[in-house]
Amino acid sequence: MNSVEPISDFFAELNTFVGDRPEQLLQYLYRIQYRYSFIPPQAVQLLAARLGLPASAIHGVIEFYSFLHDTARGDFDILFSDSITDHMLGSRTLAHRLCERLGVRFGEPRGDGRVSVDLTSCTGMCDQGPAMLVNGWTVTRLDEARIEEIARLIETTTPTDEWPAEFFAVEDNIRRRDLLLTSATSIGSALQALLNKGGQGILDELDRSGLRGRGGAGYKTANKWRFCREAEAQQRYVVCNADEGEPGTFKDRVLLNSYADDVFEGMTLCAGVIGASQGYLYLRGEYRYLLDPLQTALERRRQAGLLGHNILGMDGFDFDIDIHMGAGAYICGEESSLIESLEGKRGIPRKRPPFPVTSGFRLQPTVVNNVETFLAATEIAVHGADWFTAVGSGQSTGSKLLSISGDCARPGMYEYPFGVSIRQILQDCGGEDAQAVQVAGAAGSTVPQRDFDRSIAFEDIATGGSFIVFNQARELLDMVQNFARFFAHESCGFCTPCRVGGTLLKDLVDKVHSGHGTEYDLQQMREIGALMRDTSHCGLGTTAPNPVLDTLDKFPAIYQSRLCDSGYEPAFDLDAALQEAKQMRGQDQDTTHFETEP
Ligand code: SF4
Repeated sequence: MNSVEPISDFFAELNTFVGDRPEQLLQYLYRIQYRYSFIPPQAVQLLAARLGLPASAIHGVIEFYSFLHDTARGDFDILFSDSITDHMLGSRTLAHRLCERLGVRFGEPRGDGRVSVDLTSCTGMCDQGPAMLVNGWTVTRLDEARIEEIARLIETTTPTDEWPAEFFAVEDNIRRRDLLLTSATSIGSALQALLNKGGQGILDELDRSGLRGRGGAGYKTANKWRFCREAEAQQRYVVCNADEGEPGTFKDRVLLNSYADDVFEGMTLCAGVIGASQGYLYLRGEYRYLLDPLQTALERRRQAGLLGHNILGMDGFDFDIDIHMGAGAYICGEESSLIESLEGKRGIPRKRPPFPVTSGFRLQPTVVNNVETFLAATEIAVHGADWFTAVGSGQSTGSKLLSISGDCARPGMYEYPFGVSIRQILQDCGGEDAQAVQVAGAAGSTVPQRDFDRSIAFEDIATGGSFIVFNQARELLDMVQNFARFFAHESCGFCTPCRVGGTLLKDLVDKVHSGHGTEYDLQQMREIGALMRDTSHCGLGTTAPNPVLDTLDKFPAIYQSRLCDSGYEPAFDLDAALQEAKQMRGQDQDTTHFETEP
């Protein structure tokens, strides 16, 4: 909320704990944004002087992250989560209702500056949506009554810390526990195993376990740690990727809420193996509510001698963890973008090789692993590789955490041994009426009914964890449209195939969705999608056309049923575009596009 506190005072307060390295830029900006509702020009000047950066570089960073603004947002800055699952739960209607009640237009602060309402990408609350962020704080389970009450609270200028606590309740919704979540590991026991077995012993155990990265890419964890350990360097780093931005994914949110110690222990274990003294948890900006509890957990571990100097009495085992906040950029889930962001810059993906294991944070060897991967490493260190490999399938040892949402009776987090069939999962979550399941998020694949006996595994259908159910009544083209818009919005803009191709693809999907598409447009989609897949700079661009290409292939009817008869239709409908202006001028003739004044 806007504050009369001079920016120089707040800046002095921030200095005491944020520091003065240029890489802290994003951390300053994040905090200034939420104190002042934007980044005032004076803050840019102060930051430029403090961090030794040109003002233009600071503005470049502000422009890159969607939660940062150089013009004022409303005192109550509301962002509705725009995930397809929020849509399915009625978020659009509720958002328009709130705008109506407050007399505000999407994307524009109200005249008195009190409130602004806009959309944001998936906020990771798909199991308890529709959701929104208010000044960065998560509000879940929106309905008509809650919207009415929020409008009243805003009109009475009630600070968010006086809003009903239940509005901000985020539940874990753990529906099924298996290997990892049922193994009660006492705090510090993985580090004790490190003491007993040594770094090489833990690495051997990890190797035998076959653990692969749980973020989706599936790279073997032991190899990553080994390459980093063997790289020549003065310093090495451990980074936990908690930028959980894939639409439909929320299992890291649950782990950080209820299993934070196991995650931090996995990071510390990794530090002991590779020889790192500093770690970072990169937390997505949408999970602001987790920041304080996670800081508390870190402090508790310092007090217990599990972080800091001479951990568990081991001479020279020094390691600590800082939390860095993201600020609304899906691309920062890509590990090299994340590292750029960690260094306070725009999250543009780096050219690879070199890979982060040899040249990562500050160009030093860096292990970047997913939240779930660190948790699994902790458990493997304690229980051993045989315990882990006793579960799973083929090339996929152990278990997988799934975030299940959409048209099912019991949305939430489920843990399954790898190899579980999609049909089994649907039975468990109450999604038997599914016509399709979107596995692995917007960049994943749309699985039709005929493939429900296929399994979740690296060798079959791989996923970072997102699992969205669509029942028989759903229009799958709505999902495609939502994902196409998502990718067009989230492209970082660095390379042409993704920046331009993503927008063209979105426009073509919109055209088909509105009933103006033709066979020619479908062919254009295929060609643009193939170009993006083959020539984009990073994984975002290469996977962005997946929803279109996948559904064109598996669900051609959802396109065919919307095509118009003509061989060619222009993408731009002049009459439709002018309709609002014609109505305002009282011109409703069908024969004219627009009349000039007599
Ligand atoms: Fe950026 Fe997209 Fe190119 Fe990746 S593919 S570098 S996200 S523009």
